[in-house]
Amino acid sequence: MVHLARVKTDRDLSEHNKDLPKIEDLDIGVPGQDEFTANVYGSSFAAQDLPRHEIPEKEMPRDVAYRMIKDDLTLDGTPTLNLASFVTTYMEDEAEKLMVDAFSKNFIDYEEYPVSADIQNRCVSMIARLFNVPSHDENSNAMGTSTIGSSEAIMLATLAMKKRWVNKRKAEGKDFSRPNIIMNSAVQVCWEKAARYFDVEEKFVYCTPDRYVIDPEEAVNLIDENTIGICSILGTTYTGEYEDTKAINDLLVKKGIDCPIHVDAASGGFVAPFVNPNLVWDFRLEKVVSINVSGHKYGLVYPGVGWVVWRDPEFLPKELIFNINYLGADQASFTLNFSRGASQVIGQYYQLIRLGKTGYRSIMLNLTRTADYLAAAVQTMGFLLMSKTRGAGLPLVAFRLDPARKHGFDEFAIAHQLRERGWVVPAYTMAPHSGELKMMRVVVREDFSRSRCDALIGDLKLALGELAKLDEKRMLKSYVDHMRGHGSRTGRTQGMNTHFADETHSLSGKHGKTHGVC
Ligand SMILES: *Cc1c(COP(=O)(O)O)cnc(C)c1O
Repeated sequence: MVHLARVKTDRDLSEHNKDLPKIEDLDIGVPGQDEFTANVYGSSFAAQDLPRHEIPEKEMPRDVAYRMIKDDLTLDGTPTLNLASFVTTYMEDEAEKLMVDAFSKNFIDYEEYPVSADIQNRCVSMIARLFNVPSHDENSNAMGTSTIGSSEAIMLATLAMKKRWVNKRKAEGKDFSRPNIIMNSAVQVCWEKAARYFDVEEKFVYCTPDRYVIDPEEAVNLIDENTIGICSILGTTYTGEYEDTKAINDLLVKKGIDCPIHVDAASGGFVAPFVNPNLVWDFRLEKVVSINVSGHKYGLVYPGVGWVVWRDPEFLPKELIFNINYLGADQASFTLNFSRGASQVIGQYYQLIRLGKTGYRSIMLNLTRTADYLAAAVQTMGFLLMSKTRGAGLPLVAFRLDPARKHGFDEFAIAHQLRERGWVVPAYTMAPHSGELKMMRVVVREDFSRSRCDALIGDLKLALGELAKLDEKRMLKSYVDHMRGHGSRTGRTQGMNTHFADETHSLSGKHGKTHGVC
């Protein structure tokens, strides 16, 4: 039947294939469909649901598969209108070309792809220097690696801190069964994962109704003999504020406490050095031993790349490093995965050398300006601003309704209204102990230009007007009830395993509604 699939028209059929059995006699569905039509939507596939649960028995033509999946995906949001995420949604064509060319390269095959491996090392060096790593002689280099994202980077950094602590305790003949780590309760969920996966107790410094960053004094007071390290965040996910790493460092030095600091610079690592070069948060501080950054956030690469660098090999215990002798070459490896694509690392290298420091600086300054412009606009509309301006934090705008104005609706209703216009602006409840504050957050990314910002401001005004009108007509309650019932327009929870649906063990799980803040 394969040759039949190539027959395009009835005329071809009659003239060239006179000897073939009649179409009606073949087990190929109704005549005029499937193989016999040039149009995807005329095929029987278009009349069926896409296979969901089991691999279908038979093939489908590639153009049909392509079109059907592409159409299915149109119900996803538009990445450029997704203001919930820090993750890159724009790269230049040339970067995309390089990345597509590398799709078939497995990054771990160092011997086969030595240039890709070397490109990673160049990126590590550039990023470590951007973070002011102390200079080393040739035999003792700063160490680092690419990862899938900051989550993997943070897992590796946590493992390194834990292992180093365990080794020290063992050498001193002391108990090493109860390691703990100190962090803000507003950490990104991957810190909770790292702690849980690697059996490290979490010691939280809680936010208060008017402080959303770690309190350095409180953090240092939590240290005990079982503390493996302190996490300090360069740009919290909630309000984008930079935690005061220098204050933590200085307290440790002053009190003579030997406790390492890891800086989670997932978002801020590519922002602060360009917008706020005088902020001292990195390896210039002696207690900072490791730093992670997401290449796919303000590093400006599509999702799938992060980085972690250590101040000195001393902080990366040797037992964690595997010398992979794969196809003949030795290369040190410290990752949770084995195989992965090389594209993201190559994309990162493109951005670093294509933009240079000047390019990153121009982009980050523009984003900061746009964020300030939006911050001023939401304040004019009567919102309270929760984020910093003028480059004192990440280029994001976090804001909330002024409780004094006694609105009949909340931030979630505004988010829902904006969603109907295509914008994804998350509403969320602040980290625990901050008085159940609700807020909204717009992340300003490279492709969020001034004109798109103006469009958002217009729609935000419309949304407020719409909700006020509903309030006047006393229809707001039924709208809010309706919204709650249809909370997730995308049916995001559809495929969720009911066994795990009731997750309450994470900070965001417990306090609900932190969705979309990533
Ligand atoms: C995004 C983020 C993470 C997680 O990073 P991924 O690259 O998404 O894995 C960790 N910490 C902070 C502060 C973040 O903003």
